[in-house]
Amino acid sequence: MVIVLASNNKHKIVELESFMKKLVPNVEIKSLKDIGFTDEIVEDGNTFEENSFIKASTIAKLGYIAVADDSGLMVDALNGAPGVYSARYAGEPSNDRNNNEKLLNDIKDVPEEKRTAKFVSVVTCVFPDGKVVSARGECPGRMLFEYRGNGGFGYDPLFYYEPLNKTFAELTPEEKNSISHRARAIAAFSGKFAEEINK
Ligand code: IMP
Repeated sequence: MVIVLASNNKHKIVELESFMKKLVPNVEIKSLKDIGFTDEIVEDGNTFEENSFIKASTIAKLGYIAVADDSGLMVDALNGAPGVYSARYAGEPSNDRNNNEKLLNDIKDVPEEKRTAKFVSVVTCVFPDGKVVSARGECPGRMLFEYRGNGGFGYDPLFYYEPLNKTFAELTPEEKNSISHRARAIAAFSGKFAEEINK
């Protein structure tokens, strides 16, 4: 089975690829680059569900089984922002450092106990015949006042995960892949996906 990962984010491709390989043993994973897809996919949905469907369905229309993840950070003190705008919170082109600086500034007066947040991921597979399998995963945490750790990407150095007493940027890839929002979305997705391909 060939599955195209409808993402250009290298970090997400690495994370998703490792999940999909465990899920479908003989899977051949291709990236958008591998299939020569260079158009920009406009993510103009209002929810993670909509955007993840937009990405996967664009590629499924070309005849591929396509899997996409749409994810982001929701900060309670900001009423769920940056949300679907996580990648371009500080404007385009998207830049992790600028996004983190803007976020730190936007919540500079928010006290520790109110800095709760969650990462959200929605993983969607669209088949060439239009069938859709989708699932959501969330991981709760808290926003720090300063950066901690050098791993991961995006908002990872500011996102503190209490159960492991580490920020996401301090986790090993294995640790992150066992508890992250994407891991939880994939866990919920796997059963539904297996059911669909074994029909
Ligand atoms: P997407 O590529 O449109 O789904 O945008 C996702 C954005 O959300 C990324 O650019 C990051 O800013 C943020 N994000 C999603 N998942 C993670 C994660 O695991 N760690 C840190 N930031 C993340």
